[in-house]
Parts: sequence; C-alpha cells; structure tokens
Amino acid sequence: AARQRGRNHIEYFTDTLRAEAVDTKRMADDVLRGLERREFIPVYQLQFDARTLEVTGAEALVRWQHPRQGLLTPFRFLEVAEMLNVMGDLDAMVLEQALADFRGWAAQGLRVPRISVNVSAQRLGDDMLAERISRLDFEPGTLAFELVETISFDDASQQIADNIQRIRALGIDIEIDDFGTGYASILSLLNLSPRFLKIDKDLVLPVVGSARSRKLVSSVVEIGRALGIGVIAEGVESARHAEILRDLGCQILQGYALARPMPAEDLPAFIRARAWQPGATGEA
Ligand code: C2E
Ligand code: MG
Ligand code: MG
Ligand code: MG
Repeated sequence: AARQRGRNHIEYFTDTLRAEAVDTKRMADDVLRGLERREFIPVYQLQFDARTLEVTGAEALVRWQHPRQGLLTPFRFLEVAEMLNVMGDLDAMVLEQALADFRGWAAQGLRVPRISVNVSAQRLGDDMLAERISRLDFEPGTLAFELVETISFDDASQQIADNIQRIRALGIDIEIDDFGTGYASILSLLNLSPRFLKIDKDLVLPVVGSARSRKLVSSVVEIGRALGIGVIAEGVESARHAEILRDLGCQILQGYALARPMPAEDLPAFIRARAWQPGATGEA
C-alpha cells in the first residue's frame, strides 16, 4: 500500500509538473505576442521630498495590458520574460513609453522633475545599451536607472561596469534598488557611485514598530551621508511611516500613503489637486 501511495504521489507530482510546464509554455508564447503588440506599458508612482512633500519624480512600473486578463502586475510575467531572455526588450519598451509620457506631460505644462525606470541585468549586459540610450530624446538630469542589488556587480563584469560608466556620462542617475535585500557587497555597490540608495519596503515597513529597523535605516542614511549618496524609502504606507523616515534622514519617500501607481493620464490631475491642498498630504 505504501508503494502504491508512493506511485500515486509520483504520478500526481509529474502531472503537476506537466501542467505547470504547459502553463509556462503558454505564458511564454503570450509574453512574446504581448511584446510584439507593445502590451507592456508603464504606470507611475510619484516620489516626494521627505521634508516639503513636493513631487521629486516618478518611478515607471511595468504593467501588462493583457487583451483578456486586463491590467496585470508583474509577479509572474517578469520571470517568464527573463527566462525567455527578453527582459531587455521589455525594459526598452517601458523606457521609450516613459519618455513619451514625460514629453506628453510637458506639453500639458506639467514638469515632472525626474523619471526612474527599472533596468534588468539582461539589459545591463547588452553591449549596445549606451548607444541605444544615446539615440533617445531626454534631457540630462531628468532620468534615473534603478539597478537591483541582485545584479552581480561583484563578478567583475567589465561589460556592466562599462555600460554603467557610459550611462552616467549621458547624464543618467544610477540608483541601487531594493537596497539591503540582495547579496552584493556594499563595496561593489558603492563603486557604482549611485546618486541614491533605495531602501526596500521589507526594511521600511517595520520602522513603525521596531527600533531595530529604525537603526538599520538610519545607518544606511549615515553611510549615504558620508559618501554623498541620498536615500529613498519605498513602501511608505502611512503618515507615521513618512514622519519617521523623514526624521531618520531619508530625503525621498515613495509609497501608498503618498501616491499609488497610476496611469500616465491620471498624473497631471493628481499633481494639480495636491498642489491646491498642501494640507491634505498626510502631514499634520
Ligand atoms: P520595485 O522596483 O522595488 O518597485 C516597488 C514595488 O513596490 C512596486 O510593485 C510598487 O507598486 C510597490 N509599492 C509601492 N509603494 C508601496 C507601499 O507603500 N506598500 C507596498 N506593500 N508596496 C508598495 P510592482 O509595481 O508590483 O513592481 C514589483 C517589482 O517589479 C519592482 O520592484 C521591480 O523590481 C520590478 N519591475 C517593475 N517594473 C519593471 C520594469 O519595467 N523593468 C524591470 N526590469 N523590472 C520591473
Ligand atoms: Mg524600482
Ligand atoms: Mg524598489
Ligand atoms: Mg522593492
């Protein structure tokens, strides 16, 4: 009976694997089709000066405008895109659309100081990256690239180091995303001379209840201060979070308490509504 159970278990297991493989295959085809039809678009989450709560910029976050499933958040499709080796194409699509949206806002008389886009390891490894970027239409100082700490900056990838150098020379800021959650050495990260460290929400969320978390954040702020690197906190979910993070010395805040990710067309009205009622920002 035990053997029978074991066999059933294995059968069940292989069936599950097979179903998952079919699922992934279907999703892979769907992602490729979506790329062809440019279904990957950015939404924007505003960022704010921790002291004045003025808008300092916006992060472009990819969404999949799926023909049947609606607007999808990137929990599964980024993995599939990575597996397919098309993350670079997806990032390029988001960047191009972000620059177009930026010009669209400007045409409406709205100046968003800066746009940040996420850049994958696959895109950073592209030896044509700097050339591709240099062909795009943007003003130096208005664009930032967020690099996640899981990119292996340590393993002396000359290609990546060169790319980052050239990107910076084009007037693009480098930011370390999800700082504190990866395994890159602090030294290799600081060697990239980032303009900002972005502390991940997993470290930011507990600051309200945990003195240890507050110490962690303030030590990141201190490292930044010593080296002339600013600190951005993401995952600012309440007015209390905003207050604490400001007091700990974070310069820029991003989170649901201040603004949710929103479509490009909603951004002008949101910013104008805020400008008229500065009291309604959550600060008391
Ligand atoms: P990330 O770059 O660290 O982006 C922040 C994530 O935290 C976003 O999730 C955002 O919606 C969410 N978030 C913002 N404020 C709060 C808050 O107050 N509380 C909580 N709980 N969450 C908050 P999203 O949009 O689902 O993106 C997830 C991740 O996907 C991003 O994390 C980034 O690593 C990746 N990603 C998104 N867009 C792109 C892209 O265009 N290219 C690449 N390569 N990666 C992207
Ligand atoms: Mg990011
Ligand atoms: Mg982040
Ligand atoms: Mg994060």
